[in-house]
Amino acid sequence: MIALLSDVHANLVALEAVLADLPPVDALWVMGDTVGYGPDPKDTFALLRERGATLVAGNHDRAVATGEGLALFNPAARAAADLHRTWLSSEDRDLLAALPVTLEPAGGYLVCHGSPRDPLWEYVFDASTAAQAMAATAATRCCVGHTHVPAVFRTGDGRVMVNPGSVGQPRDGDPRSAYALLDVASGRVDLRRVEYDVRETQQRMRARGLPDVLADRLDFGL
Ligand code: ZN
Repeated sequence: MIALLSDVHANLVALEAVLADLPPVDALWVMGDTVGYGPDPKDTFALLRERGATLVAGNHDRAVATGEGLALFNPAARAAADLHRTWLSSEDRDLLAALPVTLEPAGGYLVCHGSPRDPLWEYVFDASTAAQAMAATAATRCCVGHTHVPAVFRTGDGRVMVNPGSVGQPRDGDPRSAYALLDVASGRVDLRRVEYDVRETQQRMRARGLPDVLADRLDFGL
C-alpha cells in the first residue's frame, strides 16, 4: 500500500493529521508543492524527508527554491513564496531545487506534479485532458497533484491518472485534508479525507505575516 500526498503547502498541522490517519504503508509518494502558501515550510519539508517520502518538484517548490515561474503567481502566492525563500536555509533551497520533475518509483507508475506532458504546470481537470497529457509517457498509470481537487481519471485506452487532492489547501469545497491510498498491485485507489486544526494553521499564518486571504480560504476549502 502506498500513501499518495500532494500539495502539502507548508501546512504542518494538516500533514501531521494525515500521517496520524494513515494505516501502515510501504511508501509515501508526494506529488509536489511541499512549500508555498502555508506557515511551516521548513518543518514540513523536513518531516517528509524524515519519513523517507518520495518527492517530486511542484511549481511552488521551484519558485521558492529558485525564483523560476514566480512572475506567473498571483500577488498572495508570490508574497508567500518570497517569505518561504527567506525562512528556508540555503541547504533546504538546494534540496528543493534538486527535486526531479518526474519519477517512476514502482509498479509502472509515473509520479509528477502537473502532468506527464508538462510536469510542473499543467492542470488536469477532466478525463479528456488526462488522456492527451498521458500520451507524453509510456507509463499507463500516473499520479499527479496541482489542481488540489481529488480525482481518478480513466482514459478510453485503459490508462489511469490519480490525483489525491491537497493535504494543505483543499480547493473542492471540503476544508478537510485530502490524500489517497493506492494498492499498486490491483490499482485500487481510496480517496480519503481527514479533519485537522484549521484554526491553528490560520493562527500560525497570521503570526508569520502571510497574506490574510491565504489563511481565510482554508475555512472553506476553496
Ligand atoms: Zn499546489
